[in-house]
Amino acid sequence: MIIDDDPTMRSLVGSLLSRQGHDIDTAEGLDELEHAPERLDVDLVILDYRLGRSTGLDVIRLLMTSSITPHVILLSGAERERVMGAVELGRAYGLHMLGVLEKPLDAPALLRIVEQLQASLRVVSSGHIRAALERGHFLLAYQPKFCLSTGRVSGVEALARWQDPELGLVPPDRFISVAEKDGQIIPLTWQLVEQALAQQYRWRRAGFDLDMAINLSPAVLETDDFLPQFLRRLTAHNVTPGSLTLELTETRGIRDMDRAIDQLSRLCDLGFSIAIDDFGTGNASMLQLYRLPFTQLKIDRAFVAECTYDDKAESIIQMVIELARRLGLDVVAEGVETLEQGRLLKRAGCHTGQGYFFSRPLYADRFEAWYGNFGKQIPDKEGISWHTMQQFIQQCHPT
Ligand code: C2E
Ligand code: CA
Ligand code: CA
Repeated sequence: MIIDDDPTMRSLVGSLLSRQGHDIDTAEGLDELEHAPERLDVDLVILDYRLGRSTGLDVIRLLMTSSITPHVILLSGAERERVMGAVELGRAYGLHMLGVLEKPLDAPALLRIVEQLQASLRVVSSGHIRAALERGHFLLAYQPKFCLSTGRVSGVEALARWQDPELGLVPPDRFISVAEKDGQIIPLTWQLVEQALAQQYRWRRAGFDLDMAINLSPAVLETDDFLPQFLRRLTAHNVTPGSLTLELTETRGIRDMDRAIDQLSRLCDLGFSIAIDDFGTGNASMLQLYRLPFTQLKIDRAFVAECTYDDKAESIIQMVIELARRLGLDVVAEGVETLEQGRLLKRAGCHTGQGYFFSRPLYADRFEAWYGNFGKQIPDKEGISWHTMQQFIQQCHPT
């Protein structure tokens, strides 16, 4: 759905995308859609900010009241600040805001975003995953975590990526749940653990003192020989438990609580850090926090996304940080996208931040190039520079 009051733009974008085989619908503005919001129930809405009598914000509100959550790209010549406000509002409403493109239209950039979206919407099958496992198409990207009081990189989170020659980049949201259902999460996790451990060993040798966080589905933790197998691999790679964090995802899916408690307690005793992932969402509740022996709590990015303009989200974040403090847990905020969010989190007492504001997840070679320069006065386009990080820390001190 292309929404733009400029007919030239509608036909330009329309023909660009229909040539790629997409079905196109167009609208001039809110008036046309108000009485037919179902027309917005599409995979992608390309939305102009200024729409004559209405704005992109009105369309976003219409989406919210109609409970429709398409992916949205903002395409606009309006001031960046306004457009970003619309992006934040969209995110707050749970829309998948894919990005902002400025006018005049950068056609290759638009096509890139659309292609990525298409790849991510394509359902992957068990057969696909099996073939990708055999061919070694799963990789890890590493996203740095920053200590909010010193500005140092305290570690990385290893995130699964599937680089498929035909499908392109398939994000984990498309394959982890499929792999969890069909059991392939187990061989997949071992493949990724092997990669993470080998990487951790190489980085140690290069003098990088980084904690490595690995995501673990409950199903993997619940396999019979999980612990001995994991320890064997650790020994083989010469990696110590003290340099690893296990982020337990989807804790709601734990089938045998007693067993999980037993496994996690042993891991804790061995020196691993254990994190409850996505805390505050349906999958990670107080009950699990109460029962399982965690050492770290990761605040879900849904709260972080809204904390700077929604008092409720801010209160929840403050409460969660206080809760973590009382329970003696490390607290990590994920999904930090703006300076303001980082500041608020630091003031609230959060130890560690992770998110696009600091750095996107990077493949190993890129991560090394960036991290190698971190601390030197070299500005870097991949992740944040040391200089900016220092400024961030200074700005956080109340004046
Ligand atoms: P997660 O564990 O909550 O990981 C954080 C996700 O947030 C990652 O998405 C990361 O790329 C994204 N992210 C980081 N910073 C920002 C930010 O500033 N803004 C926004 N909007 N997003 C940010 P990704 O890599 O797509 O992974 C999605 C989920 O897939 C992960 O969520 C995790 O639950 C799961 N996953 C990834 N790798 C693995 C794995 O190896 N094993 C298992 N079991 N699950 C995995
Ligand atoms: Ca995680
Ligand atoms: Ca999360």
